[in-house]
Amino acid sequence: MNELVLEHSPLENLERCLERIQEREREINAFIELNPRAEEEARRAERHGGRLCGLTVAVKSNINVRGLRATCASKTLENYVAPYDAVAVQRLRSEGAVIVGMANMDEFACGSSGETSYFGPTQNPAAEGRIPGGSSSGSAAAVAAGFADAALGSDTGGSIRNPASHCGVVGIKPTYGLVPRHGLIDLAMSLDQIGPIARDVRTAALLLEVIAGRGREASMLDVQPQPYTRHLSADLAGVRVGFAREFEEVTSPEILGVIKRSLRRLEAQGAEVVEVELPSLEKALPTYYLIVFVEFFSATRRYDGRRYGYRIEEVCGAEVLRRIHLGSYISQKEYAGRYYRRALQFRSLIRRELLQALEQVDVLAAPTTPKLPHRLGESLTPLEMYAYDLLTVPANLAGIPAGVVPAGRVRGIPVGLQVHAKPLEEQVMLNVMLAAEGAE
Ligand code: GLN
Repeated sequence: MNELVLEHSPLENLERCLERIQEREREINAFIELNPRAEEEARRAERHGGRLCGLTVAVKSNINVRGLRATCASKTLENYVAPYDAVAVQRLRSEGAVIVGMANMDEFACGSSGETSYFGPTQNPAAEGRIPGGSSSGSAAAVAAGFADAALGSDTGGSIRNPASHCGVVGIKPTYGLVPRHGLIDLAMSLDQIGPIARDVRTAALLLEVIAGRGREASMLDVQPQPYTRHLSADLAGVRVGFAREFEEVTSPEILGVIKRSLRRLEAQGAEVVEVELPSLEKALPTYYLIVFVEFFSATRRYDGRRYGYRIEEVCGAEVLRRIHLGSYISQKEYAGRYYRRALQFRSLIRRELLQALEQVDVLAAPTTPKLPHRLGESLTPLEMYAYDLLTVPANLAGIPAGVVPAGRVRGIPVGLQVHAKPLEEQVMLNVMLAAEGAE
């Protein structure tokens, strides 16, 4: 069976989501804008059916949804109304999904906490008073709060996986090139991927199945969509799960405790846990940020105040401005060889190490973030904020798939297990995630 069976009709399902939004959205702030045509879409879904018939979806505000604002949670694009649907959105709609609204996020997807939005921070529905993580903060929060059955996020260095972990939901960053990026507003185009967030692995797998596969872009992999849900299996007999000591060194003991318990459960289900080495893990974070600064700086040059409302430097927040300045500095000719080229070399090294480790095993398990989400309003230095991404950026640098599934809690705060696989091996990743699911 590879379609969704909702308990309620599309219209009833939407109404339930809207009721929950009515009750809690003021406190959570998961949305920048609700879709005024959602009801009409639910009625259409009732008539036409589809594999996602009536599934309510929140879309991150950096993905184009025709007629709604793709603000990137910025003042720069505050009034930018999307003239078309991103390919991933088109595909969801063609299977009967109903778009609930545009989800809040860190400004231009630059952040790991959901606090840098021009539209105010998002609360974590699963851990009161804490950040939901970012940058797909509203997408994960909307799913955790029951405002939507699922969501689309984007992941450049962890932005789907990090909030999924903090909010206790499932999030997937697909293989680079598997899901069309057409209609996604760039943070760093060599790293960005659109992916699903959902309450369970099966729904996330179904969403991925619908949005994956060749599109019009040159950077797309020439692959057909796979029926992941048909082959979903929690049977771990013969599955080898790698774990690197380098992950332990950077992770807080309380998170590590949850992850180790999760590994022991996988073992009890038949998996073999194997130690692997990733000696260059510590280079991943600086490498990632160098590349992001340069690519983001270049992507922001179109916001010069002529085509869109404002010149970005005049209205953006501190983090976006910092990246523009650093990106501009690094891009200057005399430094090109010194920083950027070296970053690309390290990127190849990290990719090689990950692929080598993955040759010995089927999947690589890891924590998602090194630390628990901080309290909203607590002030972190930029480096402390970047440190959240230590364990998520390697997958982006290597272009491999990685998914997060709830693994347990520490003092009531959700912790997600991260599962990496070889390029295009989403199926084995999803199967291990399925086996790990339900630990709470
Ligand atoms: N936190 C990372 C950053 O700020 C990741 C962002 C993302 O994946 N969009 O760059």
